[in-house]
Parts: sequence; structure tokens; C-alpha cells
Amino acid sequence: MRGAVIHAPGDVRFETLGDPKILQPTDAIIRTAVTCVCGSDLWPWRGLDATDEAHPMGHEYVGFVEEVGAEVTAVEPGQFVVGSFATSDNTCANCRNGFQSNCLNREFMSTCQAEHVRIPNAQGTLVATGDVPDEEFWPGLLAVSDVMGTGWYAADAAEVRPGSTAVVVGDGAVGLCAVIAAKEMGAERIIAMSRHESRQRLAREFGATDIVTERGEDGVARIKDLTDGIGADSVLECVGTAQAMRQALHAARPGGNVGFVGVPHEVAIDGQELFFSHVGLRGGPAPVRRYLPDLIDRVLSGRIDPGRVFDLTLPLDQVAEGYKAMDERRAIKALLRP
Ligand SMILES: [Zn+2]
Repeated sequence: MRGAVIHAPGDVRFETLGDPKILQPTDAIIRTAVTCVCGSDLWPWRGLDATDEAHPMGHEYVGFVEEVGAEVTAVEPGQFVVGSFATSDNTCANCRNGFQSNCLNREFMSTCQAEHVRIPNAQGTLVATGDVPDEEFWPGLLAVSDVMGTGWYAADAAEVRPGSTAVVVGDGAVGLCAVIAAKEMGAERIIAMSRHESRQRLAREFGATDIVTERGEDGVARIKDLTDGIGADSVLECVGTAQAMRQALHAARPGGNVGFVGVPHEVAIDGQELFFSHVGLRGGPAPVRRYLPDLIDRVLSGRIDPGRVFDLTLPLDQVAEGYKAMDERRAIKALLRP
């Protein structure tokens, strides 16, 4: 089979690889229906995460089960399945507490921009849809496996409540999905921080009520203007840079909460400042598995359409162009079809 391999910054190649095999009785092999490029894949592409040796890429997938290990009974060959970038047994203490992305047997997916993928912990990780969904739903279900699940966690961690005010920092795919989540959780006012017109438009269609184009302290000042001078109830940080985190912490009101889901790069938090702010903080890799059944229902019922974050579709063999287009911000998110 073939799949994407990164060799160095800016050098992703589509290569012939060995077919994945069942290695553990808890594994499954799927045939990829669609996969995609993640914003976090751009860190090694840009050389901001080191690539010491060539390795496969990709952690988002939906597909058809081809084969299961002896201990996998929850899914069977032929079924269409949705998973998560973090695999989980769904039985350990951390899983039972709802933090499947911190499963004691967790393995992060890293080979999904490929025609076939081995899924460890398949029993606890994969959720099958009832029937094979129409192709029009595949992008939405793929979004659920990562960006939508992550946006949902940002809203959950920031404790978005009906009638509340939510600020979303970041207008990438996760930020846009975070707008969907805040809306679904009943936020009355959703302020999206974005400088890009096409993304602002999509944010509004997803439920944003206000757009703030300023960044840094100017952005915080705008949020204060819009929130009676005190800041927002919930802030959803979906970028991961030091500036975005500072903006998020300063935009939350005393007693408010920040959910941070952008993978932090050189983010440092001042303990004294956090102490005196009265802001609650929770983040981390999203426990997507906790939300999968609910989010799959919302997509298949047509209630939400997070698949709209994919604004570029490419054949999988042009995966490198997907990285390039996202790096140059010509695309929000690239969908790849084997
Ligand atoms: Zn577990």
C-alpha cells in the first residue's frame, strides 16, 4: 500500500510502504475512506518540530474495517468506523473518568495519511456507524475524529453554558469547530477572533455573533469592550502559541474558564498572574472517544456540518500539496481521498 512519509521540513512524499498487519489481538486494520492534513502536521513541515528520521504521517481517519484481531468484538469487517487520534481501551480508570486520550494503554495514531491503517486498541477506539453513511457525510465524520472532537472539548473544558459568552481564539479548523460546539452548548454570544475574511464568514455561518480582528492586548481590549469590561465566561484557545494563550487568559472574566486545545509551543504561564486572575484552566489532547457517539449522531442527523472546514479536496497521492496549501494558508484544511 501507499502512504505519506515526511523526510525533512517541506519534504512529504507519497511512497510504497508495507501493508499494515494485525500485531496485537486488540488491533484492527481499516481501509481508509478519507483522511486529511492537520494543522499540527504543519509543525514538522515547517521545521518547528524536529524530523530526525523519515516517518509516516497523519492521525485522522474514517474507514472500512478489513480485519480484526481475536479480542476485537465491537466492530467487524465491512463496517464503517470513526476513531480518534489517540487510541484507548475505554476500560481503564482514566477512560472510565472520561479522559480516554490519557488511557493507560494509549497509543497516538501517526500513520493515517495512507491507504490502510492499523488501529491499536480497536475495541475501545472505533465506533461503527449503523449503515455505511453516504459519502457526503464522510468529511463531517472525519472532522469528528479530530478537529470537531477537539473543538467540542475546548467548549466543554471552558464550561460553555446556555446563555453564556464564549470567545474562540484561532480561526483554523479547530477554532471553527469550537464555534460549532459553543453554539450547540447554547452560548448566546460567540466572539470569533479572526483576521481572514473567508474564515470569518464560515465562523458566522457556524454561529459566531461577533468577529474581533485585533490581536494581542488590542484584541483583549475589544473583548472587554464587548463584555461590560470584565471579559468572557468561556475562552476556547485553539492555536497553541504564547500570544494566543496570553490573549485567552486575559480575555476571560474572573471566575471564567479557558479551555486550551492548541498544542502549546513555547507557552509559559505566570503563576502569580493566574492566581490573581481567578481564571480556571483545563486543556490537553481532547478525549474525542467520549464524544464520538454523540457527535456522530449530530453529523448524521444533519444538525452540524463540521465537514465544511475542508475547503480543499485532493487525491491522497497529492498529499504534499495539501501540506503546502495549508502552510501558505490557501486552504483551511485539506481532505485526502485514496
Ligand atoms: Zn483506557
